[in-house]
Amino acid sequence: MPVRAVFLDRDDTINYDPGYLGDSNQVRLYPGVGEGLAQLKNVLGFKIIVISNQSGVTRGIITEEQVRSVNEKINDLLSKYGTKVDDFFYCPYHPDFDSPELAECRKPSPKMIFDAAKKHNIDLTNSYFIGDQPTDVECGNRAGVKTILIKNKIGQNEINNLQSPNKRPNFVAVDFLNACSFIEKDFTEKKLD
Ligand SMILES: [Mg+2]
Repeated sequence: MPVRAVFLDRDDTINYDPGYLGDSNQVRLYPGVGEGLAQLKNVLGFKIIVISNQSGVTRGIITEEQVRSVNEKINDLLSKYGTKVDDFFYCPYHPDFDSPELAECRKPSPKMIFDAAKKHNIDLTNSYFIGDQPTDVECGNRAGVKTILIKNKIGQNEINNLQSPNKRPNFVAVDFLNACSFIEKDFTEKKLD
């Protein structure tokens, strides 16, 4: 049976981003992430999948091992809330350093979402993307999921400039729990139809 999913950007959506995060001891979750994911996954039955650009790898700043250790730390921290990320997808490439074929995974391309959907049999029409950057919104829109932009770092001016249909989020959230509430409400209303 197809499953529904909430796709998440990682840096500055789940965890604070000091820039090319490679040290798992520096991982700090944003407020509400543990509670919100427990609600989405454990109560509402969404699969939780991270979709992340990690060009620090091809830039030689961090290693893939460090990316994975940060991912593991995120799940460590989430275990206190009785929940976890089901799968992590990341793109270590960048078009400035790698072939177009390799760099194809990089957001705003929806490729990682399509790969995840195939691997986990996900119904994208009942799925969502939460991110903090316009590239996250575009990635989700191009994949055909509903998109939520969190105002963690982005300014209102930049949000106002997201006018083309590809770039406009379905919802702008003030924080993680606000994003989760939108999903819960949207999903519940859909079920009643
Ligand atoms: Mg981000």
